[in-house]
Amino acid sequence: MVQKITIAIDGFSSTGKSTIAKELAKKLGYIYVDTGAMYRAVTLYAMNHHFVSSSTLNLDELEKHLPSIRLSFVFNANLGFAEMYLNGVNVENEIRSLEVSQLVSKVSAISSVRKKLVHEQQDMGKHKGIVMDGRDIGTVVFPDAELKLFMTASAEKRAQRRYKELIEKGDSVEYEAILHNVVERDHLDSTREDSPLSKADDAIEIDNSDMGLQEQFDLIYALVTSKLS
Ligand code: C5P
Repeated sequence: MVQKITIAIDGFSSTGKSTIAKELAKKLGYIYVDTGAMYRAVTLYAMNHHFVSSSTLNLDELEKHLPSIRLSFVFNANLGFAEMYLNGVNVENEIRSLEVSQLVSKVSAISSVRKKLVHEQQDMGKHKGIVMDGRDIGTVVFPDAELKLFMTASAEKRAQRRYKELIEKGDSVEYEAILHNVVERDHLDSTREDSPLSKADDAIEIDNSDMGLQEQFDLIYALVTSKLS
């Protein structure tokens, strides 16, 4: 039987982690898990129930509701990837909005939220054969992953990519607001107390500011192949 490994991809917001992770999983026949989508879905739930806003956070109520937040990934054959469902409803589009992006780092800093999601993520990866992307995959979720990558790029490049994605989807957003959000999330995610974004000692850092997708994919695929041989 071909050996299966765990691939952890961490890094700053909008570094293209999920694009690479998706392609890699497809090529290897592995499961792909976008852990950012899970934090975004919990944030959407908290927003819809008025547990969080830019100036408030009702931690007690959110914690009380955590057991009723059911997250699942459902494969969409037309798109070729799994979409995020929150309590049975497809929220894939909604969780990518700027409103969710502006509150997600506040919700993802809550330890009880992290505990729930890390547990679910570890369960999904218990048989290996998984590509997971996020902020704490190589450090907390799968510290023993065979391959760990840490993606970086300049804040401007990342904001341009996110801006393009949202505009193409038809959202009306301003580039400056996206840039501000990217920089703010980097700061909040790297300075929070519980599982801050940081590069695992044994992760390979890839700065893709000036790299095309194919170039990145080839580089990463070569790293995977060397781990498999
Ligand atoms: O990857 P994405 O940008 O969609 O992640 C959204 C947010 O979710 C991050 O800014 C971070 O606050 C949180 N997150 C996290 N840990 C992960 C994945 C995402 O805290 N493993």
